[in-house]
Amino acid sequence: MKATIAVLPGDGIGPEVVAKSTELLSVIAEKFGHEFTFVEGLIGGIAIDETGDPLPAETVKICENADAILMGAVGGPKWSDPTATVQPERGLLELRQHFGLFANLRPVKAYPALVEHAPLRAELLQDVDILFVRELVSGIYFGERQEQGDGDSSYDTMTYSRSEVEQVANVAFRAAQGRRGKLCSVDKANVLATMRLWRRTVVDVHEEYADVELEHLLVDAATMHLLTRPGSFDVIVAGNMFGDILSDEASVLAGSLGMLPSASLRADQFGLYEPVHGTAPDIAGRGIANPIGMFLSAAMLLRYSLQLEDEASAIEAAIDAALDAGLRTADIASPGQASASTDEFAAAVIRHL
Ligand code: NAD
Repeated sequence: MKATIAVLPGDGIGPEVVAKSTELLSVIAEKFGHEFTFVEGLIGGIAIDETGDPLPAETVKICENADAILMGAVGGPKWSDPTATVQPERGLLELRQHFGLFANLRPVKAYPALVEHAPLRAELLQDVDILFVRELVSGIYFGERQEQGDGDSSYDTMTYSRSEVEQVANVAFRAAQGRRGKLCSVDKANVLATMRLWRRTVVDVHEEYADVELEHLLVDAATMHLLTRPGSFDVIVAGNMFGDILSDEASVLAGSLGMLPSASLRADQFGLYEPVHGTAPDIAGRGIANPIGMFLSAAMLLRYSLQLEDEASAIEAAIDAALDAGLRTADIASPGQASASTDEFAAAVIRHL
């Protein structure tokens, strides 16, 4: 098949892991007989430096003409002055909103090869295979806000409409149908009005998915259940802020933030694919970033936007094989163990393909 992929490297380690992913996708294209065209665009801090805008119109055009977007990460100390009028992160928020990417999918798996070094006991991590579905374009991150109205107070507002909850709940129920048939909806229905609407709506949508077992958890309880019984979860659906926090908490189950991919989708096949991690300024430029989160994001792009399931599975299997062979980037190496550079790890994955 022919596909055009918009490539937005961003800042920090973004360009380092993105470059390896396009290399990986080129190998996939060659091996499976596809033609992928990569078109690069600016986003984030580098876009502010070069154009004054974290999401230049040219980048939006590149993405509009593509079948999917592959992104690194944005931000860093250079642009983190809170009084600055433009922040790199705005570029990403605008991109998600411009394309109406309302469902953020974040799979979290505990790798058998890594469980002995995880902060949780190995037996708790057995069978951990969770898919987070986070609402991405509404809720408190997008509500009306007032920054320092009188200098001493500010506010943010959380709103959800029934249709916003319905569309993300539908994605989550359908995902559960394709997995182990269990959905856990996280809310704060005992306190927040928006979260009572969330729960009522999820219960109503459930009527169309009788084959899925539905559980509700309050967000405070969910933080504990995630660490005490992580293996019992299949799909977890949550609003924007709770989904953000819980999926970062769950990242420890995978061993490192560098392992986790994400997909941001709308109702058709178009999507934005990016690792969960940020720009890692502490290791940027040293060639030691873990490319797994980025590689798994590329695999999700093949699966969800291009319907290339075999190709996506081939990437996942090659990563497993590299880990099983003992290769580790610095973030997942045991103390004293020699670690592989980004280039070495990527080369091993490509070899295993
Ligand atoms: P971060 O994810 O960049 O880094 C957190 C820690 O994890 C660091 O110690 C880092 O070295 C490590 N880490 C992250 N990814 C790694 C990888 N692939 N391999 C090895 N180690 C890795 O989070 P942060 O430090 O809170 O944020 C740094 C910057 O990134 C900030 O400007 C923040 O706003 C931005 N950020 C961007 C995104 C995004 O673009 N989606 C997401 C989160 C943070």
